[in-house]
Amino acid sequence: MQAARLHEYTDDMSEALSIDEVDRPTVDTSDGVIVEVEGAGWCQTDNHIIEGMWTEYVPQDLPLTLGHENAGIVSEVGEEVTAVEAGDPVICHPVQTCGTCRSCRLGEDMYCDNSKFNGLTHDGGFAEYLHTSERAVIPLPDGVDPTDIAPHADAGITAYHAAKKAVDELNPGDAAVVIGVGGLGHIGLQCLRAMSAADIVAVDLKQSARDLASELGADDTVDPETEDVASAVEEFSGGVGAQQVLDFVGRDETTALAPDITAAGGDHHIIGYGGHVHEPAQALVNGEFAFRGTLVGRYTELQELVALVDRGAVELHTERYDLDDVNTVAERLEHGEIDGRAVITPP
Ligand SMILES: [Zn+2]
Ligand SMILES: [Zn+2]
Repeated sequence: MQAARLHEYTDDMSEALSIDEVDRPTVDTSDGVIVEVEGAGWCQTDNHIIEGMWTEYVPQDLPLTLGHENAGIVSEVGEEVTAVEAGDPVICHPVQTCGTCRSCRLGEDMYCDNSKFNGLTHDGGFAEYLHTSERAVIPLPDGVDPTDIAPHADAGITAYHAAKKAVDELNPGDAAVVIGVGGLGHIGLQCLRAMSAADIVAVDLKQSARDLASELGADDTVDPETEDVASAVEEFSGGVGAQQVLDFVGRDETTALAPDITAAGGDHHIIGYGGHVHEPAQALVNGEFAFRGTLVGRYTELQELVALVDRGAVELHTERYDLDDVNTVAERLEHGEIDGRAVITPP
């Protein structure tokens, strides 16, 4: 089968991946599931993997088939699998968990001691077939298209995970700020809207993204090039600041906003990454605000997100590309030229 593989770390996205002919995976464990990939979302994290940014954090052997936002049709299952059968449409949680470690028993899939992360530590879904496990797949309701929903496997679940943590802290009438209304941000905004009665302000450099934010339910938008974000948030929140900030950009310029826009006791959630947090410890003491990280999300949160999608509360804006177009997608994303989410559709 064909697979888009990373052979060497590079900053040149025009030659990021190569299309190789590789063996089709077969079930080699009793809980194994083979999925014929219908859609695999391209993620900023793929660009970061290609740049070698994850080598310090996870074991990674090259060549590696990327693609961690996968959905498709089950084609083969191991002998002990009962949750799905061949022909079932599924979305795949990116992490295959062991089910027996303490984190797994707490439901903290991302902290599993024995996890395999498709597209990051193990072969992913930029290929015709994907090897995953029973614990990672979620059957899709009738009428939900696997290609359309694929990016929710990471982009969606990550945005949902952050939004859910934020919603826990948001009372009706509180202010929430969404920074960056791109692939993840536009999902996070809809999750906030669906689950809270907070007032939401969206910050983005692009007019098209601000327009999308308004369409999706933001109460106000800010252009950081022409407006002072801190003053805008202060005015919007009646001088209180934002109880919750969802930072889908994670650059130095956006993390630096935290002391000026976060309300006392609030949180600045880091979802996008690439920059640094450089705040004086005293700023966190003075405002008693926190920076909180976001690592994908739990299996159960992906189920909840599928429920939101099924009821039409979260729409995903996608553009489809052939497997051969992976490097074009990588380059276009690098230059901020993709609106919503790119989905690779293997043959
Ligand atoms: Zn992703
Ligand atoms: Zn585990």
